[in-house]
Amino acid sequence: MGLLALGTALEWPEAKKRAHQVREWGIKQLLEIWNKAKGKERDALLWGDEVEYLVVTYTKDEQKVLLSLRQAEILKALATDTELAKDGCCVPALQDDEPAAKPKTGSLPVFHPEFGRFMLEATPGKPWGIGFRELLDVEPDMKLRRKIAKEHMLSSEYPITLTTFPRIGSPGQFTFPYYPPSGPRLRSQFVPDEIANPHIRFPTLAANIRWRRGRKVQVNVPVFHDTNTPRPWVDPTVNRDLHNWPEDDDERNGAAPDDYIHMDAMAFGMGSCCLQITFQAKNITEGRQLYDQLSPLGPIMLALTAATPIYKGFLANTDVRWNQISRAVDCRTPEELGEKPLKNDRWRIPKSRYASNSTYISTDPRLRPEYMDPDLVIDPEIKAKLVEGGMDDLLATHFAHLFIRDPIVIFEEDLQELDLNKTDHFENIQSTNWQHMRFKPPPAENNIGWRVEFRPMEIQVTDFENAAFSVFMVLVTRAILSFDLNFYIPIKKVDDNMERAHAVDAVLKEKFYFRKNPFPLRPSRANTVFGDESRPGSAMPSRPGSPGLPIDEEYEEMTIDEIVNGSPTGDFPGLIPIVESYLDSVNVDVETRCQLATYLSLISKRASGELDTAARWIRNFVDAHPAYNHDSVVDEAITHDLIGAVIAVGEREAAGQNFAGLGIHGLPRLLGRFRGGCGQDGPNGDINGVSDDVAN
Ligand code: ADP
Ligand code: MG
Ligand code: MG
Ligand code: MG
Ligand code: MG
Ligand code: MG
Repeated sequence: MGLLALGTALEWPEAKKRAHQVREWGIKQLLEIWNKAKGKERDALLWGDEVEYLVVTYTKDEQKVLLSLRQAEILKALATDTELAKDGCCVPALQDDEPAAKPKTGSLPVFHPEFGRFMLEATPGKPWGIGFRELLDVEPDMKLRRKIAKEHMLSSEYPITLTTFPRIGSPGQFTFPYYPPSGPRLRSQFVPDEIANPHIRFPTLAANIRWRRGRKVQVNVPVFHDTNTPRPWVDPTVNRDLHNWPEDDDERNGAAPDDYIHMDAMAFGMGSCCLQITFQAKNITEGRQLYDQLSPLGPIMLALTAATPIYKGFLANTDVRWNQISRAVDCRTPEELGEKPLKNDRWRIPKSRYASNSTYISTDPRLRPEYMDPDLVIDPEIKAKLVEGGMDDLLATHFAHLFIRDPIVIFEEDLQELDLNKTDHFENIQSTNWQHMRFKPPPAENNIGWRVEFRPMEIQVTDFENAAFSVFMVLVTRAILSFDLNFYIPIKKVDDNMERAHAVDAVLKEKFYFRKNPFPLRPSRANTVFGDESRPGSAMPSRPGSPGLPIDEEYEEMTIDEIVNGSPTGDFPGLIPIVESYLDSVNVDVETRCQLATYLSLISKRASGELDTAARWIRNFVDAHPAYNHDSVVDEAITHDLIGAVIAVGEREAAGQNFAGLGIHGLPRLLGRFRGGCGQDGPNGDINGVSDDVAN
């Protein structure tokens, strides 16, 4: 997480005036890091995950299930638990007036605040190392985090790992305590300002994004048309006669079109939970390679982890959170959006600051100019300064692209003196570019290397699944490095894939652009993007790419099953077979290999459709619920039982129980026979008579 700095947050008109200074200072800090760390070598291949939770209040008998807004109290309880503190637990930065503590290096997990006041984030106490056996510690650590979190909550509160709360923003009460909607920061029709973490950074972020845009954010997601859903469908929760704020005009001016669930505040996006993985590379070159190679995997992993079928009490016609977050923080003005001619703003910007990546940055000679984004917007002055400061063209292009954005939250006190030993101004821009990959330079103070963060995955209901997806990404990363794999496709195709990943059951129904042959063939450096000396100020290198296959023959449309499992007819061998052959090539003990196999099996079966995504599981749960009228409405009773089912899964998992015995609708198809194999044909090898078809 970013630093929770102390100070006076500027309102947008003031912040706007200082934006240029923040950018200037930001790139000075960046050049300082670059010059200090570009030659850093032999950093360890560390990695770490981040798991985000919703905190809900739930009792079996009370129909209302609510979001608990007690994040601060829970973090405080964690921070002041002296027993835990002995082992290095748990909270790095608590309050506005406490400086962020040193990074933790203990064995117990670390808890972080998040945007939503109903959210928590937890990371391992220290990053995971390179050893294979350590991969087996991830799942127990995730379970420990959930246990510790729960122990510092009220008995009616639970940390759950759903991406979104099904009824956030629905009429009536959905938070505890209750606050009426509409406040000066968000100006939302649906959620109160108190929904956001009260630390000044978060409400300011939300308010200034709205202010910069000149209207509320518009988070419109298509409704899922069920048999009894009217057509056209008009979101019944939208009030077109409200006159509390000037922004209430938005809904009269077309912000809420028919057939869309309409949401109007940052909390609808940034209140979603995800699973992120950060990898440290051995040096900057390797970091740049990982950044590029993991990028095309983003949409694939988004679709595989789909878990977001409900918004504001309605079934949506999309399965993932991504675009909703993108819209929830889209600060672009009408000029930048292309709705008005450019007058005050500098350029048209094709994407929200939360979006799929638009740059490749590797020095890999296989990076062809044709893969780059022809529409990339950069700040030519920033790029020129970075190049002058010694940065190569390609990386300068990347940062000059991130730096087209304004800083949104600026603290007056930080603008008095430039401190080149800090990275705050750089991080201000960097950490509010929420792309699906993030290239993280070493922070100023610590002995940390160049890191790459993989950010698209949706959080999964169980820790088994979260561990499985984390470990899978680690293994894929190792295979990329070990086999020097090449997943390059034109970056615009990655954008297309990101859109496709939103479709309902995209994992089974969509095809995705993917490179046919991932195995290395390195052309000579002279013909590649990196070898090129392009004009300063231009985003694109000027020389033609290396001869080889025509670009459009390098990739084709594949199902996720083909991408993950391979197919007998296609060229692409499949990610899991690649990972398996990587594991064959290294020394892994039998027990570890066996446990890894249970993770790979989950991923493989998700891809083939033998197991459901969480999104499909939730849809089936709603569909089969007696209170569901097939009209897309997910009411309080359904929500109560859905959350109850999710909590029950967590409790059974914590108790080490056999999932098969749960009898929860559809559960077997979500989790599968995952504990089978591994030499123990125990109870988990069998679904114990709960047949898969209850899910259908
Ligand atoms: P952010 O929210 O900015 O992405 P966090 O600190 O919440 O960052 O999480 C980053 C993740 O990276 C954590 O899992 C942490 O354990 C891990 N991590 C920390 N240091 C390193 C490192 N040197 N290399 C790789 N991962 C690291
Ligand atoms: Mg974090
Ligand atoms: Mg963060
Ligand atoms: Mg987070
Ligand atoms: Mg992160
Ligand atoms: Mg049915």
